[in-house]
Amino acid sequence: MKLGILGGGQLARMLTLAAYPLGIRTVCLDPVKNPCASEVTKVIHAEFTDEAAIQSFLSDVDAVTLETENIPLSTVARLLKTHDFFPSEKALQISQDRFLEKSFFTSLAIPTATFRSVNSLDELHQVVPEVGYPCVLKTRRLGYDGKGQYVLKTPADIIKSWDFIQNQSLILESFVPFEYECSLIAVRDKQGHTLFYPLTLNHHTNGILRSSEAPFNNLALQKTAEQQARLLLNELHYVGVLAIEFFYDNHQLIANEIAPRVHNSGHWTIEGAQVSQFENQIRAIFGLPLGSTDAIGQSFLVNCIGNRLPIEDCLAIPGVHYHDYAKTPRAGRKVGHVTLVDSDNARYLKSKETLSRLLNLENDVE
Ligand code: AMP
Repeated sequence: MKLGILGGGQLARMLTLAAYPLGIRTVCLDPVKNPCASEVTKVIHAEFTDEAAIQSFLSDVDAVTLETENIPLSTVARLLKTHDFFPSEKALQISQDRFLEKSFFTSLAIPTATFRSVNSLDELHQVVPEVGYPCVLKTRRLGYDGKGQYVLKTPADIIKSWDFIQNQSLILESFVPFEYECSLIAVRDKQGHTLFYPLTLNHHTNGILRSSEAPFNNLALQKTAEQQARLLLNELHYVGVLAIEFFYDNHQLIANEIAPRVHNSGHWTIEGAQVSQFENQIRAIFGLPLGSTDAIGQSFLVNCIGNRLPIEDCLAIPGVHYHDYAKTPRAGRKVGHVTLVDSDNARYLKSKETLSRLLNLENDVE
């Protein structure tokens, strides 16, 4: 069996590595030349709208999924004529647009920040008082890792934010003074069975995920997050892995966004769960029984951003696993990650301290 993946970055690379033992191979399509999945699988280098390339891609695969939300819906409509697409066209459409996404949460009574759509400077002036300060102006589409966002604190920021973003299709959200951020990774199979990984506590710096820790043991929050995820998955007739990112504020989970794919905050599941998010994505797509999402011990995942870490030093720490995406280091670029997994709590805490020191985590800029 062969899985077509739209995109050929590190998520496609890790999906491919998880597919191999199951006897499943992959082919990717990516507008970027030699993305990091090309070291482990075939990548067709073409735009997502290139009809000849899409034909050649489809001729070689049994089903199609994605590793990025940045896929034109017209491409999905095209491939649905002959192929199954996972997780679903609607899930992709909603996740591409922050306004649709937050409207979808609201339609399912899932708490989210107060939000308004903004299409002009006049409209921005109008809705700021409705949302209140502080608030965040964001592009509706194609924003990720905190890019295309401006926090407004006073009326003087209205013009500044408008000039900064320079886009007509925006969303204004209330700023959530969260205590922390967390995410839930869920997986649903073709029969509608769903499984959930333990909640993951996430720490961002400069809008980019820096580290995650799981399981975040809070039974009440886990239950609430699972109920919300189940609503989303069922409504979308979803098949595959879904990530939901939450803020925790005032004893409540506030849904921020969904990712219709395997997610960075779930990379710890490779070594830290019975079956990883990557393998469960493959299993869901090919109708194989889902694997246990139980954690093996405590996990601490750290992204390597902008530069690689010395492999010897990392691997000298008990329980640490090293992932190099074979990317050229560049400021702000995720080039790998390390995961510490240990079921002995005292040893885990000691290793976490050593790893944090090695990574200079305490000096991270918020
Ligand atoms: P996003 O691109 O929406 O995932 O935002 C990236 C990061 O910016 C989030 O993980 C938060 O740390 C921060 N952020 C985004 N939206 C808000 C908000 N409405 N209130 C507070 N922080 C936010």
